[in-house]
Amino acid sequence: MWRDLADVRRGLLAVGAAAVLALPAAASGEGWIAVDVGHTLVAPGAISARGRSEFEFNLDLARALVDALSARGMEARLINADGRIESLQARPRAAEGARLLVSIHHDSVNAFELRPWQWAGRALDYNDDFAGHSLFVSRDNPDTAMSILCARVMGARLQRMGFEPTHKNGRRREYADFEHAVHYFDGLAVLRHARMPAVLFEAGVLKNRDEELLLRDPQRQARMADGIATALAACLGHGVPADDEATADRRSP
Ligand SMILES: [Zn+2]
Repeated sequence: MWRDLADVRRGLLAVGAAAVLALPAAASGEGWIAVDVGHTLVAPGAISARGRSEFEFNLDLARALVDALSARGMEARLINADGRIESLQARPRAAEGARLLVSIHHDSVNAFELRPWQWAGRALDYNDDFAGHSLFVSRDNPDTAMSILCARVMGARLQRMGFEPTHKNGRRREYADFEHAVHYFDGLAVLRHARMPAVLFEAGVLKNRDEELLLRDPQRQARMADGIATALAACLGHGVPADDEATADRRSP
C-alpha cells in the first residue's frame, strides 16, 4: 500500500526485488558475499527468553542465508562460523575482497524492560512488548549509499513477504529509512571497518516469547533467508542508490 509518491519510488525497489526472481542467476553479478555470524562462543550475546544464546540463533540464520544465496548462484561465505573470531576488526578483515558484508544478529531489549519468569526449571527473563526485524548501516563505511540501498531493499522485500519490522530502535538510532526500519549506527565496528558496503541485520527480538519460537523455526529461517537473498540479488545486480556517496554520508543537522 503506497500512500504517496515517495512511497511509490521506494516501492519500485521492492518491485525490482520481485523481478529478479525471474532473472537467471548470472544477473546477480560477480564476487562473493560475506555473511558474518554475530558474537562468539565466549561472548555469545543476549540470552533468549528460553535460555538459548544469540550466537546460536545467528549461526542458524547465517547458514540459511548462505544456502539461499547459493541457490541463486551467488557465492557466499560464512565469517566466524566456529564462533572463535578474535576481534570485531577481524570480521571485516576476513571479508576482504567480498562485494558486500551482511552481519547477522538478533535483538534484545534494555535491562530495565526485562521481566523474570521460570521456564523448564530455569530462572530467565523476557519482554513481550517488542517484536520484528531492523537494519543498521554506518556513515563511516566507505560505501554508505550502497549499504543503505541494500538495507532498504532487504526491508522492503521482507515486509512484502509479511515480516514486520520493529521501531524499538528508533528510540535511540536515527533513521536512514523509516518505512523499512533502517537505522544509522555509525560507530559499529563491523560496519565501520568494512571496506565494502555493509549491513547489520537484527532478525527479531529473542526476549519476546512468541517471536523466539518463530525465530527458532527452520522453515521460517529459510523463508527469511530467501527474502534477504532475493533482496541482495536485486540491490547488487540492479540497484542504483538514491543518493550519491557524499549525500548519503551527510549527518542531519
Ligand atoms: Zn547481537
